[in-house]
Amino acid sequence: MKHSRAGRRGTAAAAAVLVFVLALVFGALCLRETTPDFASDGLLRVCIDAGHGGDDPGATDPDGVRLEKDDCLAVALAVQAALAETYPQIEVLMTRSDDTFLELAERCALANDFRADLFLSIHRNSAEGSAHGVEVWIPADKPAVDKRLAQDILDGLRGVGISDDRGVKSGTAGNASGNYYVLGNTDMPGCLIELGFMTSAEDNALLDAHRVDYAQAIAGAVAGLLLAD
Ligand SMILES: [Zn+2]
Repeated sequence: MKHSRAGRRGTAAAAAVLVFVLALVFGALCLRETTPDFASDGLLRVCIDAGHGGDDPGATDPDGVRLEKDDCLAVALAVQAALAETYPQIEVLMTRSDDTFLELAERCALANDFRADLFLSIHRNSAEGSAHGVEVWIPADKPAVDKRLAQDILDGLRGVGISDDRGVKSGTAGNASGNYYVLGNTDMPGCLIELGFMTSAEDNALLDAHRVDYAQAIAGAVAGLLLAD
């Protein structure tokens, strides 16, 4: 079919308008996805979850002496202290502040009831063999905010000094389309930090030397995201 010149111009103009509108919608969606309005209720809140605790020691070093639950708690408390010192406008809820066991569902309920803006679960890895380094897990559907939080934390930790950057990973170690329970059952963006391997003497030494620096790096990444305009 032949189009009149005016018809072609009309079609071109309509197409341009459509492209413009689509770009606006897409841009708005991207913006919403990458920079949620964390302070929409006037408050900024972070929930920090120290993994394991009580009767659940988590992983151990090869001698079975050093326990993951203790390292998780020490780092979590250090992140809390770093946030309180540098970013007092951010409210922090700890799922545990001592050697207490909580079910995973209790941890999620605490974060959800607190209406946290961000959720951080702190763990340490373990493996047979010589694996070492830090990795940060996000949900399998890779939400942009979770991804950015995880990458910012990893970048901060790399700046302090880690034995290896194992990257931001999605899903779980055994199931790329699954989620770690605490990430799948909390309502807010979050990540699970595996802060080196309990089974790596190098990672243990780095954590002991840099616990406060690691905590400040994590706090800085959290604040960078929450306080961004
Ligand atoms: Zn763990």
